[in-house]
Amino acid sequence: MPAQITPNQLVQLIIPGITTVFSLGFACAWLYDRRLRYLRFLSASFVAFALGSAMQICHLPDEWRLNALISATFYVLSIQLLAEGVLRRAGLHLRLATHASMFALVLGGMYYFSFVTSNLLVRVYILNLSAGLLMVFTAVRFRKRCNGRIVNHVLLWVLLIFGASFFIRTPLTTIQPLPHSTAPFARTIFWVLLQLSLALMGAVLGLVLLAAAMSDVIDRLTLERDLDSLTETLNRRAFERMAGRRVADKRSYPLALIAFDIDNFKSINDRYGHAAGDAVLRRFAAILRAAVREKDVVARIGGEEFVLLLPGADDKFAYQIAERLRTVLESSRFNDIEATLCVTTSAGIARYRPGEAVGALLARADHLLYAAKRAGRNRVVTEPLGQTWSAPELDIV
Ligand code: GH3
Ligand code: MG
Ligand code: MG
Repeated sequence: MPAQITPNQLVQLIIPGITTVFSLGFACAWLYDRRLRYLRFLSASFVAFALGSAMQICHLPDEWRLNALISATFYVLSIQLLAEGVLRRAGLHLRLATHASMFALVLGGMYYFSFVTSNLLVRVYILNLSAGLLMVFTAVRFRKRCNGRIVNHVLLWVLLIFGASFFIRTPLTTIQPLPHSTAPFARTIFWVLLQLSLALMGAVLGLVLLAAAMSDVIDRLTLERDLDSLTETLNRRAFERMAGRRVADKRSYPLALIAFDIDNFKSINDRYGHAAGDAVLRRFAAILRAAVREKDVVARIGGEEFVLLLPGADDKFAYQIAERLRTVLESSRFNDIEATLCVTTSAGIARYRPGEAVGALLARADHLLYAAKRAGRNRVVTEPLGQTWSAPELDIV
């Protein structure tokens, strides 16, 4: 055991100190939103790095072979946990067998070149190359999941540069005449500079990962604010915002809005109870969600009122969609409520008139919806003008 920590070591301990702060940052973000599970891996990764580097700096344990092996264990774990954290954030992961093989190979090599035959150079190669390879591999897999978000692109590049730097560090190390034992090498300015460059890159990576985590937390909060919790479709406020964006974009034209209202819904509630009514709402929302394209906007804007905004939809297309959704609901079975229950919906379709407000478009769709109600329910009503396909009736179908 070293008798005392020297001032030089104390300065170097800033590195594990900063890494620990990052680890705490990820842990706090995870405590804030426990669904972001990848944060546990990132937190553990930064802790593992802090432990490995603190042990190396303080020569704990003092016996250099044991020290090399234990600190290498933490370094390998750190890089594996980092890779897993980044991949899990993107909905990917590495197999346990892959992790176990890499761990066993690296640690086996470290053991052999410490205890069986001492070779510092090979140990440096093993650690740096394995870290570099895993980081570049992670970056390559992560590349396809960037989703155009700036923070993800920055993360990708930081991972690539950090990963590549491990390959550069290795030949750099060999330029120096290496002493035979670890302790004197660890005291050279060269080693300290290498450690500092690693710490600097680690800090940049930590900051980018924290920024990515924060953006994920904000995304989730925004989604929660925008989503109707019962049906998991957008709520009215989010619909108005999204619809505003669509009408402002001329590439969305022709733009159609379908307003749906479930028929005699009150009687479903009265007859089977509120929970059954909720189940019907969820089912219809699922039908709507399953039918939409990525650019469409589906929302629940009232109790049993839903809207579907269709960019690039002419009258015929909008009508076909509305008809299809109407018939899908009509033919849906609700065996958990009552096998004979038949739920229907009425719909009104309005086509967007350039320059009009979203509220005005919605009011027109609503007006047509109530025309459908008056005409006997379970039907789709469209605007008469601009109808270019042959439908059985011009207005009420
Ligand atoms: P119409 O065919 O004319 O549309 O008749 P309706 O019975 O569907 O229309 P009405 O507006 O009279 O009834 C809507 C009902 O929806 C009244 C309200 O209690 C119920 N409701 C509103 N929000 C919810 C909800 O979140 N869950 C359930 N189960 N019911 C709801
Ligand atoms: Mg209704
Ligand atoms: Mg209603």
